[in-house]
Amino acid sequence: MTKPQPKPWIAQIHAYVPGKSKSASGQPLTKLSANENPLGSSPAALAALAEAHNPADYPDPDARALRETIAAVHGLNPDRVVCGTGSGELLHCIVQALAGPGDEVLASRYSFSLYPLLAHKVGATAVLAEDADYAASVDNLLAAVTERTKVVLLDNPNNPVGSFLPPSEVARLHAGLPADVLLVVDEAYGEYVDPALQQAAFDLAARHENVLVSRTFSKAYGLASERVGWVTGAPHLIDLVNRLRGAFNVSVSGQKAALAALGDQAFVAASREHNAAERARFAAAIAALGNHGLSASPSEANFLLVHFDGAVSAAQALEALSDAGYAVRHLPSQGLPNSLRITIGKTEDMTRVIAALRTLCGEAA
Ligand SMILES: *Cc1c(COP(=O)(O)O)cnc(C)c1O
Repeated sequence: MTKPQPKPWIAQIHAYVPGKSKSASGQPLTKLSANENPLGSSPAALAALAEAHNPADYPDPDARALRETIAAVHGLNPDRVVCGTGSGELLHCIVQALAGPGDEVLASRYSFSLYPLLAHKVGATAVLAEDADYAASVDNLLAAVTERTKVVLLDNPNNPVGSFLPPSEVARLHAGLPADVLLVVDEAYGEYVDPALQQAAFDLAARHENVLVSRTFSKAYGLASERVGWVTGAPHLIDLVNRLRGAFNVSVSGQKAALAALGDQAFVAASREHNAAERARFAAAIAALGNHGLSASPSEANFLLVHFDGAVSAAQALEALSDAGYAVRHLPSQGLPNSLRITIGKTEDMTRVIAALRTLCGEAA
């Protein structure tokens, strides 16, 4: 050996490929490819970010004020909340704590592209259960559980489909799992769901030893650049995450911005309402192009997965949207060569996206 050699499971990993934000000719594109909030961030969060702080000082390693406010907003015990550098850091910690070589990490066929990577990083095997019309299937997930299964990762709503399992289905999935298998309910898009359904996973995590719920400030809170997420669950799970997370994992500005954003629930509600209205308008526009082979999977998230099963291909639509100034997500590597994931943007952007797709199909814009 002439140089340091990585572990074989690390050698198999390739670095995360982010969505494009430039056209082939180098023109900047409006990003509808990363599910960011088109309304930006809460003015309260922006004001907090504008406040001066001493950059020579470390942040609070326990993000105490932020955890207490998260707990107050969601009716949780702050001792059962831990914050991270995005929810991604925390998902990595819990998988690392529970799975390794020879173990299996289970997810649905179409789910967050990070999940197999989390398994591979720790030398575990990623197992993907067959979907049901693109959505997670509780029956198929339960049938895929083996003695080697350590963690089940469920993004709900799901990315890249936007599908949503109602609380009764999540409870049925949990009830069917062995007690020593952890169920992670990743609610990155939780704020977009009907508020009446938003508490159920927290209640499940409060009652059981093997449920962890994750949330993020990256989506509806519009703070993706600050990298703040959190999880809640039983004390032994929180302890595992605390052992493995970065010691000063949430920056001063991240803690301040997230804290202020929690205080502006009107912004979150406005984001949810804008998203619901524009998503419905976009879904209707796609349905109107059904005779050209276009359809969209039902979505409770801030994007639609649009399928192209007619003369117009997803690759052609990707190019037409790029020409119109928009970056959207084509995910052939996830087994979706005929689909595009399109983030719900500002009203005027959705109008232009609809016009570009109609023109491509030969319909009047
Ligand atoms: C965007 C997203 C996240 C958020 O990741 P952060 O690290 O918190 O920015 C988590 N899960 C899913 C399914 C996502 O789509």
